[in-house]
Amino acid sequence: MASDFPQRTGLYVDGEWIESTDETITVTDPRAPDEVVAEFAAGTREDAGLAVDAAVAAQDEWASLTSHERGAYLHDAADALESRFDELAELMVREMGKCLGAAEGETQRAIDLLNYYAEVARDYGGDAPPSASDATSIRTRREPLGTAALITPWNYPIAIPAWKMGPALVAGNTVVLKPASLTPAIGAELVRAFDEAGIPDGVVNFVPGSGSTVGDEFVTSEGTDVVSFTGSYAVGKHVQRDAAEMGKRVQCEMGGKNPLVVDASADLDRAVDLTIAGGVSGLAGQACTATSRVVVFEEVAEEFTERLVSAVEDLTIGDPLDPETDVGPKASGSNLEKDLEYVEIGDSEGATLLTGGERLDREGHYVSPAIFGDVDPDMRLAQEEVFGPVISVISVEDFDEAVDVANDVEYGLSAGICTNRLDHAEAFIDRAETGVVKVNQTTGGVEMQMPFGGRKHSSSETYKEQGRQAIDFYSHEKAVYVTR
Ligand code: NAP
Repeated sequence: MASDFPQRTGLYVDGEWIESTDETITVTDPRAPDEVVAEFAAGTREDAGLAVDAAVAAQDEWASLTSHERGAYLHDAADALESRFDELAELMVREMGKCLGAAEGETQRAIDLLNYYAEVARDYGGDAPPSASDATSIRTRREPLGTAALITPWNYPIAIPAWKMGPALVAGNTVVLKPASLTPAIGAELVRAFDEAGIPDGVVNFVPGSGSTVGDEFVTSEGTDVVSFTGSYAVGKHVQRDAAEMGKRVQCEMGGKNPLVVDASADLDRAVDLTIAGGVSGLAGQACTATSRVVVFEEVAEEFTERLVSAVEDLTIGDPLDPETDVGPKASGSNLEKDLEYVEIGDSEGATLLTGGERLDREGHYVSPAIFGDVDPDMRLAQEEVFGPVISVISVEDFDEAVDVANDVEYGLSAGICTNRLDHAEAFIDRAETGVVKVNQTTGGVEMQMPFGGRKHSSSETYKEQGRQAIDFYSHEKAVYVTR
């Protein structure tokens, strides 16, 4: 059961849970780093190769099922997740430290994603527009690509694998999944749900292990046909290059440096709530769509900043399993160190630390949320992805400057504006150089029926994830002409 710790995570290859020949890696609780949450058998390059072989061998038979039949396995896997809902949410909290409410939301999202793609599968497979000729019928057909390599990060450790597996499987591909090394146990639970659903051997394979061996083997193996990666730009740019060089279809969704613009018409309390919900609470800033820059009109900057600092100081930092907690620990010691490093960088660049930015004097990877004022848009603090609760407040003179600052970063994932002016809202939607744009919403949080992906360094911009469009990535489209 998921609530027994430590969890033991093996490899799932060709329908069997097996041990690796390599070392065992331990995952510790971010709240109490001496406590072991999971031990996993780190797969080797050879293990990854066995998983690919199994997936390739299973592909024809899986593709020969109807999409309705494939979708039925997704429904059953969703039911299996639902039957262990509370244990899964708790495991996620213990493995990577997000707050319980966020972990429950993500668990529900994984269930919903599998059910959604199971339903989309009933109504997916091609179009049949009318032909120009009476004697001819025309239609398109969707066909699977083959075996999909799925490589995922730790911050959404069950939702991201689910939003890749769902469309890949209903399109008729088999999959090999490599979870992040920080979160193998929750990834294994998703795979276990497919096992319980009776998915045919070899259709789903799971190999935890290091990115540079297992991940690289999945990307560069002759057996995989398509690669879907979510993670940092530093890794993703190499994955994209390596996969593309081999002629594979590849999709990389990567980091963000997401702005929330607050204009002079905005309800400032709402703007504060959106900033905290988007960049601080729940995940401690560890979301690709997290708000990390607030771009505020100068006439309201002082008032907004005062209210933001006061609200942040009122947050409860503590045990993420406690429903009263607003901010839990960082997922790992190195994530905490990175936040502290950026606090130093901000200081040394001349930004003013208004609150937080300190390691808490308690067990666990806890840092107090940091708000910086006097931030210049060119500072590293305002340009680089921190991936923690470190918010830069940047003051601007007018709307044009706000848009310029919002866009002037290498990333382009999500951007938000808090405003009561329709002209500002519409102009911002028009001019934001991002894949997602939000009005009076947090920069984070998306709906699964909508396409998701970024621009610039946030994405390979090859295909979108989520929504019906996600299936396009995992399938060929064939145009068929039949004349009687
Ligand atoms: P990461 O370090 O890039 O790792 C992502 C995945 O790639 C992990 O499974 C990792 O394995 C694997 N990997 C590492 N080196 C590899 C290699 N040479 N070849 C193939 N795979 C390799 O990212 P992370 O720290 O897990 O996640 C945080 C990042 O993900 C942030 O930048 C965040 O913005 C981004 N993210 C983006 C989205 C989005 O949809 N745009 C969503 C969530 C997160 P190991 O764990 O074993 O190193």
